[in-house]
Amino acid sequence: MSEIIQIQGVSKTFGGVVANNNVTLSVNKGDITGLIGPNGSGKTTLFNSIVGYHPIDSGSIQFEGREISRKSVQDIARMGLIRTFQQTRIYGKMNCVKNMLISLPHRKMSLLESFKQNSEQDFEKADRLLEFVGLYEKRYLNAGSLSFGQQKLLEFAMALMNEPTALLLDEPTAGINPTLINGLIDRLKRANSEFGITLFVIEHNMRVIMNLADRIYCLAHGELLAEGRPEEIQNNQKVIDAYLGEH
Ligand code: ADP
Ligand code: MG
Repeated sequence: MSEIIQIQGVSKTFGGVVANNNVTLSVNKGDITGLIGPNGSGKTTLFNSIVGYHPIDSGSIQFEGREISRKSVQDIARMGLIRTFQQTRIYGKMNCVKNMLISLPHRKMSLLESFKQNSEQDFEKADRLLEFVGLYEKRYLNAGSLSFGQQKLLEFAMALMNEPTALLLDEPTAGINPTLINGLIDRLKRANSEFGITLFVIEHNMRVIMNLADRIYCLAHGELLAEGRPEEIQNNQKVIDAYLGEH
């Protein structure tokens, strides 16, 4: 199986805080890979480094065999590597379809211009993906009127608008009620199996990630603590201790 994301010896500090220390891991193409770890263990920082949100102190990050650690967020997104955020980023006063359209790739133009240039295909794609996440009936409602869980589904659909090769999801189920969590897990799995999108998922909910991931990495204090298949991680004493130590 080929590695689509390769992270080699990546370190990142903020002032005196070591957020990531010499992290080496890889994500296989076509897999769902999990990233877990206690709060503050450096998961979001690693995602930010991968997508070019900030420069790393040292190490190497490759996507499809190309070094991306000095590229901009825009350039990396254009290559097909996209992330979602821990906090929802939708436009509450726009309807779902408009949110979908403005999430389209990296058009360096004003908002007004970008609306003019949306093609029939863009609208069709927006409708199709809203249908995929179960929001088709709500597509002309303002995104702000959706429940929190529905907003997360919208955000996921917005990321899919860009047709990513690989999608990084930062705690996609955080704050969602259990019923919608199952729906979201199902959509994530389908995006992986039907659209062939490689997923790299930060998840705090152990039940969710055990159900979802092919392979899981665990960070603690900015360093890689363990890696393995879900059942291996679940029974790994170092992982159990790291989580117990959190509270
Ligand atoms: P996680 O996502 O695993 O909860 P983070 O990557 O958000 O962890 O944070 C790892 C560490 O880096 C924490 O100590 C956090 O306070 C620190 N950190 C993250 N981002 C910044 C930043 N922009 N400025 C300063 N410190 C940061
Ligand atoms: Mg985080």
